[in-house]
Amino acid sequence: MFSDLDEQMMRLAIAEARAAESAGEVPVGAIILAPDGETILGRGQNRVLRDSDPTAHAEIVAMREAGRTLSNYRLLTPVGKGCTLYVTLEPCAMCASAILHARIERLVYAADDPKAGACGTVLEVMNHPRLNHRAEIRAGLLSEECSRMLSNFFLVRRGKQPLDPHPIDTEDSLLTRSNDGGSDDDEEKMVREG
Ligand SMILES: [Zn+2]
Repeated sequence: MFSDLDEQMMRLAIAEARAAESAGEVPVGAIILAPDGETILGRGQNRVLRDSDPTAHAEIVAMREAGRTLSNYRLLTPVGKGCTLYVTLEPCAMCASAILHARIERLVYAADDPKAGACGTVLEVMNHPRLNHRAEIRAGLLSEECSRMLSNFFLVRRGKQPLDPHPIDTEDSLLTRSNDGGSDDDEEKMVREG
């Protein structure tokens, strides 16, 4: 059901989510892949707090970038082929609607969103029988990793121990890394990310 390429793209979306988390935002990330299966047209991470923008969800940020790249509000190639959107969390109603406007051909998401998911979990905006655009939807790719990332974020925010601390955040991993003879640049990067 999922190809190696799908997993590779979802890993990039997860990296975007991690970057959002480092900035104190709810960790959600998105990637838009062109129909050629190679070109990344847009990357997005949740940035609602940083931008004071209620619409700055990862999918919207990525779609804005892709629209500028293609100079088209429909994210279609000149021959009418649509893109694939990868996102770490089930899109909400706003994002699902924007995905339909953008004529995204295929949507791949990781974790279901029991609070706001609009691909069938709470609402059914994607592929609603009364709407005319149909997209292929594939759910569940790397979903455990993505839901753990979200639950840990909320646990930490409430001052509780994470269920599965990200090893990069622990002092141990930094010490081990420096004893391994990792370069100064690597260490600096890890400290910054931590
Ligand atoms: Zn959204």
